[in-house]
Amino acid sequence: CAKALGKARYEVFDPKMHEGAALLLELETALRHALLKQEDFRLDYQPIVSLTTGKVIGFEALIRWYHPERGLISPQDFIPLAEETGMIVSIGEWVLYEACHQMHRWHQQFPTSPPLTISVNFSGKQITQPDVFKQVKHILQQTGMEPCCLKLEITETLLMDNFELATTVLSQLTALNVETHMDDFGTGYSSLSYLHRLPIKTIKIDRSFVTSIGSRGENLEIIRAIVTLAHNLNMSVTAEGIETVEQLAQLKALQCDYGQGYFFLPPMERAEVERLLAANLCSKNFLKR
Ligand code: C2E
Ligand code: MG
Ligand code: MG
Ligand code: MG
Repeated sequence: CAKALGKARYEVFDPKMHEGAALLLELETALRHALLKQEDFRLDYQPIVSLTTGKVIGFEALIRWYHPERGLISPQDFIPLAEETGMIVSIGEWVLYEACHQMHRWHQQFPTSPPLTISVNFSGKQITQPDVFKQVKHILQQTGMEPCCLKLEITETLLMDNFELATTVLSQLTALNVETHMDDFGTGYSSLSYLHRLPIKTIKIDRSFVTSIGSRGENLEIIRAIVTLAHNLNMSVTAEGIETVEQLAQLKALQCDYGQGYFFLPPMERAEVERLLAANLCSKNFLKR
C-alpha cells in the first residue's frame, strides 16, 4: 500500500510510528539481554480450583519480566515480541524448566494426594521446533517432575495453523502422560470440527466469556454449549478469570469442572505460594467465602 503511494509514502511515515519502532527495538535488545543473564525473569503461580470440591488442584505458571529500568513488564507486552523474534523458544525452555523444577520441589516439601499439577503456557513457535518432544522429556528427567502433573497450555489458533504437526506432537506428549490443554478457547477461529481429532484433555474457556456472565445472556448459552461439547468429547473444562460469586455460581450450575480467577486467588509469587502450601490451604474449600 505504501509502495502504491509512490513518493507520498514518506509523508505517510508518522513520527509516532518511528518512536514506536525505536521503542520496540529497545525492548528487543533488552529482552535479548535479559535472556542471556536470566535473572530478570520470574514465574508467578495462579491456583486452579476444582469447582466440585473447592480445593486447589494445581497452579498455572505465568512469566514476569522485571526490567532493570522500566520495572515489571507484562507478558502481554513482551510475549508477542518474543514470538516474532524467535526468542520465545529459549524463554519457553526456561519457563518449562523452572516450573517443573519448582513443582517437583513443592511435591517433596508439601506432598498432597493427588499431587498438585503445574500448567505451563506453550507457544506456537515451541510446538513447531523439531525436537520439542525430546526437550520436554529431557526437562522432566532433569527435574524429576512426574509427567502426569505437567499440563501444557496451547492456544487454538496455534493448533489450527499447524494442525498435522501439532497433532503428532500432542499425541507424543499424551503418550508420555503429559496433558495438553487448549487455552483461551473461543477467541480464535472456529475449530469445533477438529476438536475431536486432537488429544486435548481440557478446554480453557476464555476470560471474555466469563466476564460477560450476567450482562450478556447469550454468552451463557455459549459456555453451556462449550461445556456440553467438551464433556461429550471426554474433555474437561476450566473457566478463566472468575471474579464474582455470580460468575462462579453460573459456571458451577453449567457443570464447569475447574476455575481460575481473582475470586479465588491471583497469580502469586513463590514465597506466597509456599505460605499457602505450608498452611495446607490448598485443601480448604474455596467455593465458600
Ligand atoms: P493466559 O495463559 O490466558 O493466562 C491467564 C491470564 O489471566 C494471566 O495474565 C492472569 O494473570 C490473568 N487472570 C487470571 N485471573 C484473572 C481474573 O480473575 N481477572 C483478570 N482480569 N485477569 C485474570 P498474565 O499473567 O498477564 O498473562 C497473560 C498471557 O501471557 C497469558 O494468558 C499467556 O497467554 C501469556 N503468557 C504468560 N506467561 C507465559 C509463558 O510463560 N509462556 C508463554 N508462551 N506465554 C505466557
Ligand atoms: Mg494459559
Ligand atoms: Mg488462558
Ligand atoms: Mg487468556
